[in-house]
Amino acid sequence: MIDPLPPLREVIARHGLSARKSLGQNFLLDLNLTRRIAEAAGDLSCCDVLEVGPGPGGLTRGLLAAGARHVLAVEKDKRCLPALAEIAAAYPDRLTIVEGDALGIDPNAHLQPPIRVVANLPYNIGTELLVRWLTPHDWPPFWQSLTLMFQREVAERIVARPGSKAYGRLALLAQWRSTARIVLRLPARAFTPAPKVDSAVVHLAALAVPRFPANPQLLERVVAMAFNQRRKMLRAALRGLAPDIEARLQSVGIAPTQRAEELALEQFCALARTLE
Ligand code: SAM
Repeated sequence: MIDPLPPLREVIARHGLSARKSLGQNFLLDLNLTRRIAEAAGDLSCCDVLEVGPGPGGLTRGLLAAGARHVLAVEKDKRCLPALAEIAAAYPDRLTIVEGDALGIDPNAHLQPPIRVVANLPYNIGTELLVRWLTPHDWPPFWQSLTLMFQREVAERIVARPGSKAYGRLALLAQWRSTARIVLRLPARAFTPAPKVDSAVVHLAALAVPRFPANPQLLERVVAMAFNQRRKMLRAALRGLAPDIEARLQSVGIAPTQRAEELALEQFCALARTLE
């Protein structure tokens, strides 16, 4: 028991919350597990937390039981609101529920820094939200950390190292300005209903400044072009970037015959700097 509220199965039955695939609804019903996810986010007692997609509130309850100062929960499915209101009543002044699409809401209007984001994301918008949080106009971002559930394959792409198949745009984007690691792996059966694939929780801690200097737009362009044709040698994949791309690659110690997946983050940043 992490709180005096009723078990989630009972909440779901009472409010008729049958899971909808179109909303990416795979619920976590084990409150000890949701509390562990909340704890993996770090100390929450001095932070406001943004949770996207609370559903019937399993993770929300984990966050509140773990001591979150304040939780802002953004849920698109109206049907979940009465169940979430019961949690808000059990934790006076610590839970704000906003009905709406997380893609269209400015969380800063409701939150005080420092802010952590913790969510069991709907699969259909998970990557889009992550990319958005990793590419704000200014750095450091509004968040101190992101603790997010993804399909395992996506989680592995976020933490991937050079030379691996999973290494690509997402790894470079995440690792340039944050420290990313997988903190928990969950089998599909941990969810109700069980999805087709396993999941993992990734924790990303924002760095105060990027790991290596580079212009964000140029870095993004170089990385996107390099991995769009990841099997090609860089001199071919990056031909459209600059007429003298071979010379530029060589000037920062990259052989034009290398392929994107062999380059470390530091080398991509050095290459982006030559294009300033
Ligand atoms: N947090 C709950 C849990 O762990 O059991 C539910 C997680 S479920 C994977 C994803 C939740 O996101 C669902 O409740 C769904 O209704 C909600 N959702 C889907 N699309 C959304 C969107 N665009 N904005 C906000 N919530 C969304």
